[in-house]
Amino acid sequence: MGKAIPKIGFVSLGCPKALVDSERIITALRSQGYEVASDYASADAVVVNTCGFLNSARAESLDAIGEAIAENGRVIVTGCMGHDESAIRAAHPKVLAVTGPQAYEAVIAAVHDVAPAPHDPFIDLVPPQGVRLTPRHYAYLKISEGCNNSCSFCIIPQLRGRLQSRDAGDVLLEAERLVNAGVKELLVISQDTSAYGLDLKYRSSDWRGKPVDARFIDLCKGLGQLDAWVRLHYVYPYPHVDDVLPLMAEGQVLPYLDIPFQHAAPNVLKAMRRPAAGEKSLERIKRWREICPDLAIRSTFIVGFPGESEEDFGALLDWLDEARLTRVGCFQYEDVAGAAANDLPDQVAQEIKAERHRRLMEHQRLISAAVLDERVGRTVEVIVDEVDDEGAIGRSSWDAPEVDGCVYLNGETDVVPGDILTVKIEQADEYDVWGRRQGEKVTS
Ligand code: SF4
Repeated sequence: MGKAIPKIGFVSLGCPKALVDSERIITALRSQGYEVASDYASADAVVVNTCGFLNSARAESLDAIGEAIAENGRVIVTGCMGHDESAIRAAHPKVLAVTGPQAYEAVIAAVHDVAPAPHDPFIDLVPPQGVRLTPRHYAYLKISEGCNNSCSFCIIPQLRGRLQSRDAGDVLLEAERLVNAGVKELLVISQDTSAYGLDLKYRSSDWRGKPVDARFIDLCKGLGQLDAWVRLHYVYPYPHVDDVLPLMAEGQVLPYLDIPFQHAAPNVLKAMRRPAAGEKSLERIKRWREICPDLAIRSTFIVGFPGESEEDFGALLDWLDEARLTRVGCFQYEDVAGAAANDLPDQVAQEIKAERHRRLMEHQRLISAAVLDERVGRTVEVIVDEVDDEGAIGRSSWDAPEVDGCVYLNGETDVVPGDILTVKIEQADEYDVWGRRQGEKVTS
């Protein structure tokens, strides 16, 4: 009888970028003959991919490691928090190995030590598109690692290093394989999508027998040729981003931009050392909407950053009134171990942070409600995410998975996840909309 196939469990915490890292580790292990365990009990070892950004995320990571040790006992830790091995070992001395973010080879070596690989070079267990942890109809496409910026509240460049872009041909080939495997929506992610290719000096590589430059706009054009929705995350408002708006207006790329503005008051942006802080973002948004009126913009903001005065906060609320963003997330500033902002003067009291958070969310709630209300009566395409006895839940071009709202389709039970439908919007609140299907499916 052959040796039993070792099974590895995965716990993936944190952002979509960490999810992509987990997918890469799993793809590598599957290619070596490992299986993925669906529960702690059947796993020969458990890999916990941690998030170490905010202190609250670190606490969640430590809890997850503790649970894996209690339930299984053989635990390997990787991801952003792996950077701080001493904190992990202090809390959980029984952890078998700790590796940092993107340390794929080190994680795999640690797995080999705990559960040796079943050697069978004749079996290729991995489908060409790799292994994905997201539902079958959408996939995250990571175009670069690391970041060349130095935002004062962030330690990602310390954790993940400087920008390292992938060749455009490599990204487009992965995207093409995903679409051929049934993916209907590609979510482009990185730390700074608008900086794509800078480190490669925009060098050319081959795709479909032709050269393609590692340049933001060329990558978008290539992705736009594939038969899938293309959604851009983590873009900064640099002038060259203007070039992608015509592609959105033509329907090659979704009319959606996820831009982490973080603030609007110039002195706060300066203290945050944000990329594109000097750009006139409201003018840019106005111009974008002239080119592509249907554009949805999602953003996140930090309130209570050191030195943020009541006047600065007021300027942010005024900016939100002008910008009329579709979706907004807001965080209260928190110190991150190792970040430059920790040493800034004029830290804001906790109760003021909490109050500003509440005020911003209430302020934006009314704006989002008005913006979504303007969609009532319109007919849009909707991709189905879930179906149950009562109906389906999907998303339009305005909604990224996990972070934005939904389109509810009551009574729509005759569809499956990944179907794309034409839907008339009948009702909206400040977050979600409700609609009714019109005609046949667009694709299934
Ligand atoms: S752009 Fe700023 S916040 Fe984003 S990863 Fe880079 S340094 Fe961090």
